[in-house]
Amino acid sequence: MAKTERPSTSTSRSTKTSSTSTRTSRSTSTSTSTSTSTSTGGAGKKGEAKGRGSKEARRVRAKESLAARRERVLEIVRRLRREYPGATCSLEHADPYQLLVATILSAQCTDERVNMVTPALFRRYPSPEDLAGARPDELEEMIKSTGFFRNKTKSLLGMAGAVTERYRGRIPETMEELTALPGVGRKTANVVLGNAFHTNVGVVVDTHVGRLAQRLGLSASDDPVAIEQDLMKCVPREDWTDIAHLLIYHGRAVCRAQKPRCGDCVLNDLCPSAFKV
Ligand code: SF4
Repeated sequence: MAKTERPSTSTSRSTKTSSTSTRTSRSTSTSTSTSTSTSTGGAGKKGEAKGRGSKEARRVRAKESLAARRERVLEIVRRLRREYPGATCSLEHADPYQLLVATILSAQCTDERVNMVTPALFRRYPSPEDLAGARPDELEEMIKSTGFFRNKTKSLLGMAGAVTERYRGRIPETMEELTALPGVGRKTANVVLGNAFHTNVGVVVDTHVGRLAQRLGLSASDDPVAIEQDLMKCVPREDWTDIAHLLIYHGRAVCRAQKPRCGDCVLNDLCPSAFKV
């Protein structure tokens, strides 16, 4: 299967202030929302607004110095933390093994759906060794509702077999080792490293993160790998895991793919795309 993946949930509200800004603003508002969607891959999926943010976002990004962008990002993170104090990975898990399985299942599926499937799955296969010995048809049946279940079954069996053989059932803790496992791409590895091992090795770029990075003028690319590199340059390393959660929450609650609610957005004076997408 393609090495892809993703995580998330949300709430929001807004107020306004700002100084570091790329434009003028307005806004005050309230809004709440919770959701779970997930996706894998890059900055934009089918049916979603395409492109690399607004023309203004690209113009601002081209002119903005890295130092200025870093300053702007600090304020973005600060405001989003205030908006979403509980932002975290919404895939339910008790250990690295469970998070790795859940993240593989979350490709092209909502976290909510994955969370409905995993409790029974983890009861039946509580360890990588147990999962490695699963009957493919039984596993397929258990994960069928998450979609792409045949490929996911192959990935899970391959991953569990490799973890059992190479690491005696322990989930490895490095990007290199994780991405060498069947069905595990950089995004899945980033989810596990950041949320199970609390190591900031990279930034998870799912569809929300990619879209918001573009709109906020933090990246001009459509490629998740390039977007991640752009974010790693301007986001402090200690915030790499959190920024993904925060952007995902904000993407679900306010900066939606089709109709971003710029008037309700706490970032609108910091966002070059405000009212332009
Ligand atoms: S909702 Fe509007 S102002 Fe807020 S981040 Fe998205 S595009 Fe920018």
